[in-house]
Amino acid sequence: MKSVHVQSLDIPFKQAFVHASAARAKTESVLVTVTNEDGVEGIGEGCPRHYVTGETIESIQQFVDVHRGQWMAFTAVQNLKEWVAEQAAVIDENPAAWCAVETAFLDLFGKEAGLPIEALLALPALNGQFQYSAVLGTDSLQSFEKQLQRYRLAGFTDFKVKVTGRLHEDTDKMTLLAACQDSTIRVRLDANNLWSDAESALSYLRQLPGPIVAIEEPLKVGDYDGCRLLAREMKVPIILDESFLRLNQFPAIQNDSPSTWIINIRVSKMGGVMRSLDIARRARELGVSIIVGAQVGETSILTRAGLTVANSHRDIVIAQEGAFGTHLLEYDICDPVLMFGAAGQLDAKAVNGAGLGLTLSG
Ligand SMILES: [Mg+2]
Repeated sequence: MKSVHVQSLDIPFKQAFVHASAARAKTESVLVTVTNEDGVEGIGEGCPRHYVTGETIESIQQFVDVHRGQWMAFTAVQNLKEWVAEQAAVIDENPAAWCAVETAFLDLFGKEAGLPIEALLALPALNGQFQYSAVLGTDSLQSFEKQLQRYRLAGFTDFKVKVTGRLHEDTDKMTLLAACQDSTIRVRLDANNLWSDAESALSYLRQLPGPIVAIEEPLKVGDYDGCRLLAREMKVPIILDESFLRLNQFPAIQNDSPSTWIINIRVSKMGGVMRSLDIARRARELGVSIIVGAQVGETSILTRAGLTVANSHRDIVIAQEGAFGTHLLEYDICDPVLMFGAAGQLDAKAVNGAGLGLTLSG
């Protein structure tokens, strides 16, 4: 290997994205580039989120500086697999960082072999349509309504609504959705760890109009008992996002009825494609459904990585999130740009070529 390089990615958003735990106006990500002796380049992306994995842009730069020497000797997927197995504890602390590195190496090895990353990992080739959810943020009622109309016109039926904890606002938003009177609409909520106990969450959620199919992260990170109680009382599954990052968290949920839980697999917070696939496999064994999610502001690189996971586990994937591309970003860094089109669909045919099938655009 000639070089392993990391840089921060600062791509402005078309509109500032507001989130219950963070508001930002640009991406917070890194791009890792690995280059072999012949100048062939692999690319990978990671999204450090201090409030999810404890990582920052700086921690990722340090992680790369500390381990670069070992990685320079990598020549094949087997090296990645061994590193993932041997350095599990290190990756637990640096999942987004490792995600960027692993993805870049998978891309490079795929390009060297002339194979897409699925072939390298002995997975089924990408095929068919990928269906993405509409995500409605915590903006004003007016822009929520505008967004909702835009999504409805585009043919979306699957909605994820970010709740704010301000009952009036959330009630108004849910009322707008209920007023669509469309039985094909499915609404799930994401509370981003809003409530400190199950009782408060329960009394709040019971006041919201309209059916809800699932609730994401209602309580403090890791409050599985509270979530279990909510699932039982609300009769809907709880989606684990911030509370599920690693394979060794399965003991907390594996004795429940599988319909209690849905795991939101975001490749960056899980520590890359291979660890995400391990979690999906275990979820499948337990009969637990998954969402293949995304961090806000992911470029086509992480969208592509998520496709590998979704495509390999189609029967347990109940929704996909992300693939916003230049719907959200002022520009993407890749060619082609992978993003959803009409009705939230992305066709596997959009992806071609070796590795990730992406090149950095000028
Ligand atoms: Mg979430």
